[in-house]
Amino acid sequence: MADARKQTDLNKAEEGSPLHFIEQIIVDDLKSGKHERIHTRFPPEPNGHLHIGHAKAICLSFGLAEKHNGFVNLRFDDTNPEKENQEYVDAIKRDIIWLGYTWNGGEFYTSDYFETLFEFAVSLIQKGKAYVDHQVPAEMAQQKGTPTSPGTNSPHRNRPIEENLQLFRDMRAGLYPDGHCVLRARIDMSHSNMHMRDPIIYRIKRAHHHRTGDDWCIYPMYDFAHGQSDSIENITHSLCTLEFEVHRPLYEWFIKELNIYPSRQIEFARLNLDHTVMSKRKLLRLVEDGVVDGWDDPRMPTISGLRRRGFTPESIRTFCERVGIAKRENVIDFSLLEWALRDHLNKAANRAMAVLDPIKLVIINYPEGKTEDLTSENNPEDPSAGSRIMPFSRELWMEREDFKEEANKKWFRLAPGKTVRLKSAFIVRYVDHITGPDGRVNEVHVEYFPDSRSGSDTSGIKAKGTLHWVNTATAIDAEVRLYDRLFSDPTPDGHEGLDFIEFLNPNSLETKWNCKLEPSLSNAEGGVPYQFTRLGYFSLDGEQSAEAGHPVWNRSVTLKDGWKG
Ligand code: ATP
Ligand code: MG
Repeated sequence: MADARKQTDLNKAEEGSPLHFIEQIIVDDLKSGKHERIHTRFPPEPNGHLHIGHAKAICLSFGLAEKHNGFVNLRFDDTNPEKENQEYVDAIKRDIIWLGYTWNGGEFYTSDYFETLFEFAVSLIQKGKAYVDHQVPAEMAQQKGTPTSPGTNSPHRNRPIEENLQLFRDMRAGLYPDGHCVLRARIDMSHSNMHMRDPIIYRIKRAHHHRTGDDWCIYPMYDFAHGQSDSIENITHSLCTLEFEVHRPLYEWFIKELNIYPSRQIEFARLNLDHTVMSKRKLLRLVEDGVVDGWDDPRMPTISGLRRRGFTPESIRTFCERVGIAKRENVIDFSLLEWALRDHLNKAANRAMAVLDPIKLVIINYPEGKTEDLTSENNPEDPSAGSRIMPFSRELWMEREDFKEEANKKWFRLAPGKTVRLKSAFIVRYVDHITGPDGRVNEVHVEYFPDSRSGSDTSGIKAKGTLHWVNTATAIDAEVRLYDRLFSDPTPDGHEGLDFIEFLNPNSLETKWNCKLEPSLSNAEGGVPYQFTRLGYFSLDGEQSAEAGHPVWNRSVTLKDGWKG
């Protein structure tokens, strides 16, 4: 039975679109019986919030485990205590859950393995494969050589094993100040791969660790921890980004020397997105410099920022699928991410009307004091979404840019001589308009055709354009924030000698203070997306609304790809 299910899963995987190279390896390993079940992991360092690049790695490792009935671990790679903390751990877990994944293999911390890793180091020393070096970093750097010339051996390289053991234990016992000495793997100072030239594997650092507190004053280097952690957890396929390819021989050397379970590491190209930066270090700088309003600023490429902006987990997963898994790096258009959101919300979001830059529209032949309830369907793509009531009366709000004092034949909105339909309501014809002392139009007068009501139009009048509107008496006042690319340059961190901050887009946030929303939106919940007719997709920002004392909405994305970068 179990076998039959496994077989159908394999067949399923083989139908449809061709498998990417990593999934092909997994399918082959399952077929050949090399593995009964696959076991992957996602290993974030808790030194910042996850970004859309991490989402790609998450969708890959969680997605493959899910699809092939395997396990996936969440492992916090916490070997760098000074930069890591519990707040980041919590945020990372929240983001993964929000994306729709669960770590069915368990939650782990590299710091849980500190004792085991220490023992691994001891056993390397005992084999004559590691030594304590007392040189200063500059000396070691000089001996490293270059990719084309061999390095030279440290004068401490041939210390007796017993002396190394004692020194390493003394390092752990806190007998030496920070940086006094290091433990190095004893491999080959003339190896063609620089990472194999006796890399440092332990350093002395008196730093408080968010989990182990002050238990340790020595910490393993990432390279000494990562591969062994995979091994300890019996990870079958350890999927990581291309920059780790050159580290793989080192991981394999440790595995072989320690004689522990050999996880297979497979590298794929990291995700790069244009008009943004992706490294946590740079994102942290944007937060610390106050350029953005925190890690979850809607302009940030972080999962929490995208969530606040109104992105859905489905859209992010679709985006990651579209980007695909390859061996070669490239830069993905931000527009693809926006496309994925539109694609999801077109089906999923209810419609509503809002006017962002209001001027008055007065229907001069509509009785004063009368209000009628018109109905409008919530989602033409989804009949089950039902409909809602929209009050209609003599005075409405319309969008300033929907009126022109002079217009040609191609203008299908309001202007002298023009006739338009008001969405889900009536056809109206221009009568006149009023200009304020500042020379700006502040009121447009029209007459309506009572027999042109949407759904029961018998007027026979043709109107090419349709405008959105909001009834003035029942409108909700709101602030709406419009976002654009955070950087005006497509590759802000790609200019040698120039700081990426110099390429910030000064217009990445535009606030509309005086917006008018239809009354049904008074029940809107934070984070729930709506399509505002003709304007784009928006969602209420719960936290910001509470802070501001009035509704604050974020525009997630426009209806069409209007980016002209
Ligand atoms: P950053 O440079 O942004 O801090 P990182 O690689 O240091 O990223 P980690 O927390 O160590 O961040 O990453 C966890 C996992 O996410 C790693 O396996 C890494 O390969 C993967 N990852 C990080 N950035 C990307 C990206 N842009 N595209 C795909 N995968 C990524
Ligand atoms: Mg890292």
